[in-house]
Amino acid sequence: MSIPKRQFDALIIGAGGAGLNAALQLARAELRVAVVSKVFPTRSHTVAAQGGINAALGNVLPDSWHWHMFDTIKGSDYLGDQDAIELMCRESIPTVYELERAGVPFSRLENGKIYQRPFGGQSQNFGGEQAARTCAAADRTGHAVLHTLYQQNIRARTHFFDECFACDLIRDAEGLLCGALVLEIATGEPFLIEAKSILLATGGCGQVFRTTSNAKINTGDGMAMALRAGIPLMDMEFFQFHPTGIAGKGLLISEGTRGEGGYLINRHGERFMERYAPRAKDLASRDIVARAILTEVREGRGCGPQGDHVLLKLDHLGEALIAERLPGIRELSRIFASVDPIKEAIPVFPTAHYIMGGIPTDRFGRVVMPAGQGAEEVVPGLYAAGECACASVHGANRLGGNSLLDILVFGRLAGKDIIEYVRDNPYPRIADPASVEQAMARLIRWERCGTGLSVQALSAELRKCMEDHAGVFRTESVLQEGVAQLHAICERLDEVRLRDHSKAFNTARIEALELENLIDVGLAIALSALNRRESRGAHARLDYPQRDDRNWLKHSLYYREGDRMDYKPVRTKPLTIEPFTPQERVY
Ligand SMILES: Cc1cc2nc3c(=O)[nH]c(=O)nc-3n(C[C@H](O)[C@H](O)[C@H](O)COP(=O)(O)OP(=O)(O)OC[C@H]3O[C@@H](n4cnc5c(N)ncnc54)[C@H](O)[C@@H]3O)c2cc1C
Repeated sequence: MSIPKRQFDALIIGAGGAGLNAALQLARAELRVAVVSKVFPTRSHTVAAQGGINAALGNVLPDSWHWHMFDTIKGSDYLGDQDAIELMCRESIPTVYELERAGVPFSRLENGKIYQRPFGGQSQNFGGEQAARTCAAADRTGHAVLHTLYQQNIRARTHFFDECFACDLIRDAEGLLCGALVLEIATGEPFLIEAKSILLATGGCGQVFRTTSNAKINTGDGMAMALRAGIPLMDMEFFQFHPTGIAGKGLLISEGTRGEGGYLINRHGERFMERYAPRAKDLASRDIVARAILTEVREGRGCGPQGDHVLLKLDHLGEALIAERLPGIRELSRIFASVDPIKEAIPVFPTAHYIMGGIPTDRFGRVVMPAGQGAEEVVPGLYAAGECACASVHGANRLGGNSLLDILVFGRLAGKDIIEYVRDNPYPRIADPASVEQAMARLIRWERCGTGLSVQALSAELRKCMEDHAGVFRTESVLQEGVAQLHAICERLDEVRLRDHSKAFNTARIEALELENLIDVGLAIALSALNRRESRGAHARLDYPQRDDRNWLKHSLYYREGDRMDYKPVRTKPLTIEPFTPQERVY
């Protein structure tokens, strides 16, 4: 079978903040770089980021990257790798200034400096008073960042393949990964991109849950591609539920609302977070606030006729502040919750938001695999950055404002490392026909005719299964039942048939490919959660309520083949300072 081919120095799959910041380094270094995105680049989920990006600039209250680092490690429930966290926190400061110079229109303080708001889990002096570390462009920070990065890439002549869907990674005759099979959505025609290096920057997988803050496109494609290529996924049991999704809808109400002084109340009008986190209150870390809301609802203190949510109060902040700092939140609340936060409280409930786990990388964005006897090896030429990757800076729970930071820092570092890799490995790599055929076979399966189950029906089952079995609170029996259901869903994929077999803009075919990816990712989450018999960060086991550092201060690795689990140690040594040793985590 002959299909058209394109050749580049670097192939980047994903045009969110991670992919675009990597591409910018490569294009500026005059490498031939291809960016493939299944949607137009500025529609990537980064555009939806509201609250902001963390950097210890100290513009509003005193701050230092040491405190940022401590907060991130404590927030991670000590599962984050301390070398990568140190690097990210130190790099945060030049990263934000670089964004400012590239043209990101940050909100400003009266003295002209970048505006910073308080966010959850931020402190001064290793656990002291609240800090204000999150740099914001009103409540549309991601929008500002993504558009700026896209424009800079156009200027640097990055080659974009817009609305092209990457299906699978491809190997050369030696077995090295050398490109991807890609489907042009407009024509439905497949083509091959061969490259000396590949960066996966495909973002998150929130669509695996029924109620989510994530865009429709966040279907874990890159993670599933890695799994199919034999690469494990790390720490997948740690899925963040954001405390304040619009109740029943899941759309996000930014933590920035609480940073600006908003707070949560139950049906008695009580400010209940004071009971769960006496010091940080509504600005405790996300896992703690999400569990508190669920507990209020379960114990009968929920609001509304069904008692199934709590309320987020902003009306005391005043119209002027809401108009200046939270205009997007006001609009979302009016449209999707039919309340105007200037006058009424917003009904909220936790929503699936962010995956802490992903494709394991080192701090240069290089994908790493266990190589026996505790050693690790780099997968030659393969990189991952952003939400699909796990450089292990968030551990068991991510702090708000640290993801935009993660994607930009590790996107750039991966870009820089790729430049060196391509210089050392300048020869083109050629796809092995057998590998291409294998990828094509998966695509061709969807041409089967006849009647059968619809993609929508099976995806709805998957999302419900994940919500019911792998949500905020977990137990052995419920997880076991979930895994059994997921295996059954996986088998029933064979019964699914597309009704529409046309080629041009066949979104049904894309949704089918996304469903396959979501099932793989769902299994990774549920099996990793079943096997971790402790509670840590976002992973709350009712049957193992304590953190167990003796047995579980280690990373999980899930392999698709045989649903196998493996583990590897946490890197507890920072680069230049003394380690932070695990302590009880209270806010
Ligand atoms: C509503 C919301 C608000 C948020 N607010 C904040 C915040 O204030 N601060 C913060 O730090 N974090 C926030 N986050 C988290 C943060 O925005 C994301 O984690 C981050 O933007 C992910 O960036 P990324 O570059 O990894 O991926 P994305 O921006 O998700 O981009 C993924 C890219 O991959 C492409 N892609 C995926 N699959 C394929 C495929 N098969 N073929 C081709 N292309 C593919 C997509 O087209 C897209 O271009 C928020 C998240 C959400 C959902």
